[in-house]
Amino acid sequence: MNETFSLGRIAGVRVGLHWSVLVIVVLIALALARGRLPAAHPGHSALAYCTLGVLSSLVFLASLLAHELAHAIVARRNNVQVDGITLWMLGGAARLRSEAPTPGAELRIAAVGPLTSALAGGVFAGLAVGLDALHVSGLVVEAVAWLAGINIVLALFNSLPAAPLDGGRLLRSFLWWRTGDRLRATRGASAAGRALGWLMVATGVAGVLFAGNFSGMWGALVGWFLIVTASAEARQAQLRGVLNGIPVSRVMTRVPVSAPSSVTIAEFLAEAPFDRYRHAAFPVLAADGSVAGLVTVDLIDHVPVPDRTTTTIGDVMRPLPGVETAGPDDMVMDLLPRLDASEQGRALVLDEEGHLVGIVTRADISRIVAWLNTTGPTRR
Ligand SMILES: [Zn+2]
Repeated sequence: MNETFSLGRIAGVRVGLHWSVLVIVVLIALALARGRLPAAHPGHSALAYCTLGVLSSLVFLASLLAHELAHAIVARRNNVQVDGITLWMLGGAARLRSEAPTPGAELRIAAVGPLTSALAGGVFAGLAVGLDALHVSGLVVEAVAWLAGINIVLALFNSLPAAPLDGGRLLRSFLWWRTGDRLRATRGASAAGRALGWLMVATGVAGVLFAGNFSGMWGALVGWFLIVTASAEARQAQLRGVLNGIPVSRVMTRVPVSAPSSVTIAEFLAEAPFDRYRHAAFPVLAADGSVAGLVTVDLIDHVPVPDRTTTTIGDVMRPLPGVETAGPDDMVMDLLPRLDASEQGRALVLDEEGHLVGIVTRADISRIVAWLNTTGPTRR
């Protein structure tokens, strides 16, 4: 979830908003201004309902932010790097760059979020009681009471033992501590996350179909998000487990078939040695043997046939700055996210002097993961 607007840094943590956060702000403001507030205290002006609805919605956003900030701050104290926090339609996400080093750290990072929400709920509840005793307008008391309730609901929901909720992380830290096996613990929490997700989807859809309750769609949406995220976390953990400690040099294709930048497309196609047909992309070498870029069959194919005698490989290749590169000793696990994000799905492997030593594709890594999953870690 990439941020759309930045709110700068709070307590040293980058905070941003994704545009979809506007959806919850508007929905909550509407639900309060059109529903709950006039129902509980009729007879006030539309402006009063509206103002309180929007204000409560913004304070709710601030309490979401407090929840995520608590995660981020405790994460940093436990030596986990934090990229930042983004608030979006379904809540907040603190982006942690690495995993918690121990089950205890995982427990502290996860638990502090719901605790913060519960504390906020308690403070708002106390405030509501206090304001009521001071005979402040019942409308204001109602809004503050709503903030108390929603924060307590948030604390309870987030404590459900299912990934990627905070309760799922607590479950994971417990399983990890019990078994000493982080991967197995992640699988357990992820399975619980998918089960809860499907339950929420089924309940939400049933609510819409049988009771005409359209707010059930919201629950179904959150459920779907849980399923997708929990599955992705399990896959990621599986990969991390299998690829742990494996350098790029062990998965790359050595001495790849390359193309000189000066030959024309026609020449390149005419003299094709047959082993070239096994590849879809070729490192391009300049006249002095240095790496100039990468050319794919697709790029070549886009050159109209009449132009192929005058266009060189160098003209159509993707020059080096736009191509992913890696060192032979880099970790495959670190290269993988870059490959996933890159258009070509491959990286050139260059040694310290910048000489081409190999090429590695997403498919190479998938094949090796499949093999390692089959042969098991003992035979590695
Ligand atoms: Zn949380």
